[in-house]
Amino acid sequence: MKFKQDYFEQLVGFYSQVNPQGLSNPHWLAWSDDAAKLLDNAAPSESLLQQLSGNQAMPGASYYAQVYSGHQFGGYTPRLGDGRSIILGEASGPQGHWDVALKGGGLTPYSRQGDGRAVMRSAVREFLISEALHHIHVPTTRALAVIGSDLPVWRESQEQAAITVRLARSHIRFGHFEYFSHSPEGSKAKLQQLVDFTLTQHYPTLTCDSQGYELWFNQVVADTAKMIAHWQAVGFAHGVMNTDNMSILGDSFDFGPFAFLDTFNEDFICNHSDPEGRYAFGQQPGVGLWNLQRLAQALVPLIESDVLISALNRYQQHLIDHYLTLMRAKLGLTVESASPEQDEFDLALMGEFTMMLQQSQLDYTNSFRQFSYLDPTQSRSELADDFIDRPRFDAWWQQFQQRLGKVKDVEAWQQQRSAINPKYILRNYLAQEAIIAVEEGNNQPLQQLHQLLTQPFAEQPEFAHYAQRPPQWGQGLIMSCSS
Ligand code: AMP
Ligand code: MG
Repeated sequence: MKFKQDYFEQLVGFYSQVNPQGLSNPHWLAWSDDAAKLLDNAAPSESLLQQLSGNQAMPGASYYAQVYSGHQFGGYTPRLGDGRSIILGEASGPQGHWDVALKGGGLTPYSRQGDGRAVMRSAVREFLISEALHHIHVPTTRALAVIGSDLPVWRESQEQAAITVRLARSHIRFGHFEYFSHSPEGSKAKLQQLVDFTLTQHYPTLTCDSQGYELWFNQVVADTAKMIAHWQAVGFAHGVMNTDNMSILGDSFDFGPFAFLDTFNEDFICNHSDPEGRYAFGQQPGVGLWNLQRLAQALVPLIESDVLISALNRYQQHLIDHYLTLMRAKLGLTVESASPEQDEFDLALMGEFTMMLQQSQLDYTNSFRQFSYLDPTQSRSELADDFIDRPRFDAWWQQFQQRLGKVKDVEAWQQQRSAINPKYILRNYLAQEAIIAVEEGNNQPLQQLHQLLTQPFAEQPEFAHYAQRPPQWGQGLIMSCSS
């Protein structure tokens, strides 16, 4: 790997230098060939293993933990920072640079009461979801590898430490701007330095002046809306949408107790620490706006309030536009001439479908996948038998067909649907099974699951059991934040 050190060199005072603590007996639990392609010369060698586990120095790397703050479950924590993530620098790759971070790499000045470590189960989950989301086209940070070890760590009981090697276009979070706006270490000059760095690195067409700042904040609003529209369309619940877990680039980021919906449920909560459902599946679009409002507040010293407000006012429309685009593709609907009436009609059609899924306790992913197999020209759909209220479904089907119009080539239509509606997603129970196998010393199920999720749209009939709804024990698994 070859590094540049722009953050490290240009943003002195925005991080602390640290030393990774190393792992005893490190071994690859999984490696992503696909993520490795993002970097120059990344291959799973023994020396890279020792470097990424923190046992040996990586040539060209700086080791640092970034400082940031954030709103956690609605309340402001004035200083958080990377408590267990150590960044090595920006590694070069064929399409640009990627921050390389060792999540679970050891203590930092921001570890507070924590031990700076990640347990294997959470490291494996982050690895899997990063790669799984990418392959269903959801903007996300990536994961190069997950490294297991003998090192014991204590949570509710003794567990093994691991490291997820995270690749991110940037690790800058909403919380960075909050920190340098609100904390005694911050100032208008530092906030501006951070914004200018972000613009220069990631928005090369924008200028570092009030016009550039305005365009930039509008872009952040649009990118955040787009990310959340993706989550809603694929049925993904992030679980901890604190502002310190929101990437400024609109990439899904910092995964903890996330889950894909099995049964469709607007009120689904995947996080054990969120009994009130602040981050329930159906709340995510609203939370995205709330988080952007916190970011806007932090930017007030730099950007006129009315500029910030008018950008925020566009959030909902961005979200709806992206959501409509994604859901139309799932259902095979095309738009000849866009109109508010058409949008409203389509949203209602989609809403009625998801409400029926909820009423009938049907699987979200599998129900959409059915559109790859059904004949949309038939007057009555075989799907109807899955629904409790069949007349309600039949009425919906009629409306759907009318809206769909003529389908000339049914097979092509089905193929398009199967390239958009995944067959395989990272269901919690699948991750859980892979983790249990790793605990028993068998990495093969993890690697197989990872491979499968790199081709989520392919039929792969030999793996059809991975597409099944969860068994009784795996339904509605709620994960804890303890990681
Ligand atoms: P998260 O919930 O993973 O987004 O983490 C929130 C904050 O807690 C961040 O500042 C993390 O770096 C920190 N943190 C989480 N787990 C640990 C740990 N095991 N050791 C140190 N800091 C941690
Ligand atoms: Mg976090």
